[in-house]
Amino acid sequence: MMARIHNLGFPRIGANRELKFALESYWKGGSSFNGLEKEARGLRQIHWQHQSHLELVPVGDFSLYDHVLDMSFTLGNIPQRVSKLQGTEIDAYFRFARGRAPVDTADDVVNAGEMTKWFDTNYHYIVPEFSANTEFRLDNSRLLSQVAEAQRLGVNPKPVIVGPLTYLWVGKSKDNTIKLELLEQLMPVYRQLLEELKAAGVQWVQIDEPILVTELEQEWHQQFKRVYQVLAGAGINLLLTTYFGQLKENLELVRELPVQGIHLDAVRARDEVQAVIDSLGNEQVLSLGVIDGRNIWKSDLTGLLGWLLPIHEKLKDRLWLAPSCSLLHVPVDLASEKSMDPEIRNWLAFARQKLEELQVLGQALNKGEKTVALALADNRQAIQSRRDSRRVHKPDVKKAVAAITPEMGQRSSPYPQRAEIHRYVLALPPLPTTTIGSFPQTTEIRTARSSFRSGKLSKDKYTDFIKAEIRQCVDKQELLGIDVMVHGEAERNDMVEYFGELLDGFIFTQNGWVQSYGSRCVKPPIIFGDITRPEPMTVAWISYAKSLTSKWMKGMLTGPVTILNWSFVRDDQPRSDTCFQLALAIRQEVLDLEAADIKIIQIDEAALREGLPLRKTDWQAYLDWTVSAFRVAANGVQDRTQIHTHMCYSEFNDIIQAISDMDADVITIETSRSDMELLDVFDDFRYPNDIGPGVYDIHSPNIPSVDNIVALMRKAMQRIPLERLWINPDCGLKTRSWKEVSPALENMVRAAAILRSEIA
Ligand code: GLN
Ligand code: ZN
Repeated sequence: MMARIHNLGFPRIGANRELKFALESYWKGGSSFNGLEKEARGLRQIHWQHQSHLELVPVGDFSLYDHVLDMSFTLGNIPQRVSKLQGTEIDAYFRFARGRAPVDTADDVVNAGEMTKWFDTNYHYIVPEFSANTEFRLDNSRLLSQVAEAQRLGVNPKPVIVGPLTYLWVGKSKDNTIKLELLEQLMPVYRQLLEELKAAGVQWVQIDEPILVTELEQEWHQQFKRVYQVLAGAGINLLLTTYFGQLKENLELVRELPVQGIHLDAVRARDEVQAVIDSLGNEQVLSLGVIDGRNIWKSDLTGLLGWLLPIHEKLKDRLWLAPSCSLLHVPVDLASEKSMDPEIRNWLAFARQKLEELQVLGQALNKGEKTVALALADNRQAIQSRRDSRRVHKPDVKKAVAAITPEMGQRSSPYPQRAEIHRYVLALPPLPTTTIGSFPQTTEIRTARSSFRSGKLSKDKYTDFIKAEIRQCVDKQELLGIDVMVHGEAERNDMVEYFGELLDGFIFTQNGWVQSYGSRCVKPPIIFGDITRPEPMTVAWISYAKSLTSKWMKGMLTGPVTILNWSFVRDDQPRSDTCFQLALAIRQEVLDLEAADIKIIQIDEAALREGLPLRKTDWQAYLDWTVSAFRVAANGVQDRTQIHTHMCYSEFNDIIQAISDMDADVITIETSRSDMELLDVFDDFRYPNDIGPGVYDIHSPNIPSVDNIVALMRKAMQRIPLERLWINPDCGLKTRSWKEVSPALENMVRAAAILRSEIA
């Protein structure tokens, strides 16, 4: 009566980012499609080999760009603007993904599909598009050929597909078409897809419906039964797969669906497992996602076994074990981390190690704990060493967090009084101009940094180099006539990594890449312990920059919420505790900057919005602690110091109250692409403090004209009083070249002059 082990998805990018490099070479015309396909086939093969100890191996989780995009092609749902162009299917595929195919002439460029976050992860998918013209037509070729590929390699394939309701839900209606009305058309296509898989010898299909962990509107809720009744007719075993959270009010629904198996996220929804067991049909399988697919820590296997034993006793071979979700969200292999601190390394598990943990669990249940006694003992030792480590637990830090008072997050005077003081102290012109912080990260900067890291460039030489960059950047801003200057962030490779490296409690991987979208990967820092700031992190650079000019120099920091949301975090304390530790470290930096006579300090919270929980009912709690953490970081300063914050979006209709509660003196946001329409929210909500709506879309190589900027600012002035408006780009300039940045900023300054002369 064996419990079975399986996986929901394996990282596709490759242990050494092989897929990234193969894609980029293909896009640049450096290799053929056959070459790309060969690399992809090789990766799939390696990934299946790594999973060959599993009873069921995911197929179709691999993707050349994105699995949701793959699903659009499987369902024949390709926007007309893409499909009408000449070329192969793969050309259409990359056009939908990126706006162009490798061989396109300039005329063939189309708008790429919109990209958005896959639930609460940092993975971005290409949004399916729907309209009145949408028609679905099955193209099962990709799945079928990969199933055959897997069968040839001797693994038991379990195709993975995005379920019909989640597919519709994550897509976007481009006209007024109601998405659910497309179901009638969509169901037969899914049914046919399943029938064809059955004919190919497939026993189980993993059908992902993660929307079941969100608050579903009534209409969506109601469709599930009907849809799954139709799919049941295909006669293949369906594993209805939910992850990323609790089912809550959808639990009842999930129990009633006519599927052969249910997968639950037993990390985030462990307390719902019993209820599902209690009502499980006699033949139904329960797959428990016991290994955290969203984080990089070793699981406590002994603890898990204690919990699983009675469940296994009851369900026997109807108990399956898996990671909580696809392993797409963790790096591939810890074995690549050759130079990592061994003590901390011993606490970690990446995708391959997670699958090993699964095997140990399976074997312990099936053949007795004795057969894996050594592995279990090692695991216990690792868990214990992390739990007891003095590098993790620092009593002083815990004490400092416990001692945080509301006053620490409170400025002495309310904004209107502070603004008076700033008018006097800073004496800025109306519509002051500034930038968001970074200036172009040129190849020279990158080369110098990597030479420094590899030891080829001495610390002194590197420091001199960065100083020269800062000087150049300040000189440029002087010439341009920018009112509030920045030092340009040349010393930072990344706004989170830079601070992580200077704080205690962080560790970095060499190769811990996670796919963000397409060929783009990120290497999130790991927060393993209580956080301290051994010494000032930015004061020397900012002070140096300040010494070069008589204009105001803005200090630049990354905020606690953003550092938290872009890192792998501890699972042994609430996220909020870690966030407050970060807030205290940033607060020290803010106070040091103030003491160094820096009168304007910006604390970026680019990732505040993206940390919002999946369920709206959980939003307020998140906003409460994130806003207080920001306030603790920022608000220790005196009234005369001006605090800025920056956010890379302006979609904040629903969180505007929280943004306002941060009480930053100035907020800069992204607005230029939306033609200032995103400022509509200010019609209803009187945001009380200063705002800098972006006038330069830094994601595009286009240079905004003076007229363009003037027009945008006029629109902004209709909604926000002139005295509270700033002029700035949408975001940092580090991805742009000087050739673009110089004229764009020149136009920005000229636009400011025109507007000022009108006011005068
Ligand atoms: N200060 C950062 C920069 O300019 C902000 C980047 C961001 O918001 N993503 O690069
Ligand atoms: Zn930004």
